[in-house]
Amino acid sequence: MSKPKRKRKDRQSEDIDEIPRLAKTKPLQLRYYGDPVLRKRAEPVQEITEAEVKLADDMLMTLYDTGNGIGLAATQVGILKRFLIVDIGDTDEEKFEPLLLFNPEILSYEGESVAEEGCLSIPDVRADVKRPEKIVVKAMNLKGEEIGIETDGLIARVLQHEIDHLNGTLFIDRISGLKRQLLRNELKKIQQAEHPT
Ligand SMILES: [Zn+2]
Repeated sequence: MSKPKRKRKDRQSEDIDEIPRLAKTKPLQLRYYGDPVLRKRAEPVQEITEAEVKLADDMLMTLYDTGNGIGLAATQVGILKRFLIVDIGDTDEEKFEPLLLFNPEILSYEGESVAEEGCLSIPDVRADVKRPEKIVVKAMNLKGEEIGIETDGLIARVLQHEIDHLNGTLFIDRISGLKRQLLRNELKKIQQAEHPT
């Protein structure tokens, strides 16, 4: 997901030097709207091997490289593994650690909220999306341990957006047909664009 207009301190590429493991990685190629991989269902990860650790590093690097990303699913870099990362950055009031989750599963939902979303795979398109406000998620962390997360607000929204990606769903699938119709030309442009490789 790309960031909403909100006051936050962005993690910059200089910050990556503080994470020694990331020093050797380089950003992966993002997949854009129209790429059939974005419509596929990703497969569960059985165990954390070196490949998963590398994927985590590469995806963090890819997310920070975008400059405006706050979440990324493996599907968006063409890898059909159930893995996602969320890093909404720090605000003046709060500090957030990045979330790196394998096989995330939503156990329960509560409430409802509407907020504007964007997607790194659908550049420059933004729309209001209605989603549950609060969720409980079960997942596996990078150590292979099962963890539970209860969250609301922006993190809950980004998590739902990224879990959708793992199921081949895009945020534009969750807006009204009329609104999507209005975005038709922009979507077509993204589909036909030559994306940098
Ligand atoms: Zn997205």
